[in-house]
Amino acid sequence: MRLKNVPGCRERIADSEYVIPEDELVQTAGKWNERFEKPAPIRIEIGMGKGRFLHELALLNPDINYIGIEKYSAVLLRAVQKMEEDPKPNLRFVRMDAENIADVFAPGEVDRIYLNFSDPWPKDRHAKRRLPSREFLARYDKILVDGGRIEFKTDNRILFDWAVEQLEDTKWKADLITYDLHADPALLEGNVMTEYEERFSSMGNPICKYIISRK
Ligand code: SAM
Repeated sequence: MRLKNVPGCRERIADSEYVIPEDELVQTAGKWNERFEKPAPIRIEIGMGKGRFLHELALLNPDINYIGIEKYSAVLLRAVQKMEEDPKPNLRFVRMDAENIADVFAPGEVDRIYLNFSDPWPKDRHAKRRLPSREFLARYDKILVDGGRIEFKTDNRILFDWAVEQLEDTKWKADLITYDLHADPALLEGNVMTEYEERFSSMGNPICKYIISRK
């Protein structure tokens, strides 16, 4: 998701109490729970977009601390504005490129990772930028707690098939693979829709989802 540059958005984000300042990220590794009202398992969405998914999860699960990670300030600003209207004590944001995620969280500090409608980066030479790539899985491996899981949803079947192939000969196993999440009432129970999920499922696109954990 790229939004037009919003004049002053970097400054507004820098001033927001909901966004952890970029120059404090590395020193926050291992101490993320100090950034919340109370300690709790930490779950992150990488490529959060406007933040609707985490905002709803934060409301539903007050005993979980959530962190939304987004690369672009203009997009993150939308999530910040939503928090200003309806603050959640267990939700905070980070503006960063997730390539550096292993510098920002300590080993085992993250309980769960959500990847929702990740950018497909269709050119082969950009494959390493895809958030479910082996390169990113190796970064997630550094920060995810023992027994932690990664959940990935997308309507892009080509990206999804590629993401499933990425698991071959790695330490990851699929605990769930579905090619039509919304057609399965059991799986749909408790499903929180993202902005993109709502848009693409309303167009009739089936939503694929996997849940993976270490073997
Ligand atoms: N997750 C949201 C949803 O499902 O509605 C937004 C999906 S949008 C297609 C993907 C988002 O991921 C964009 O906002 C993009 O800026 C962000 N993104 C892509 N690569 C990223 C990276 N390496 N680090 C952080 N954010 C990233």
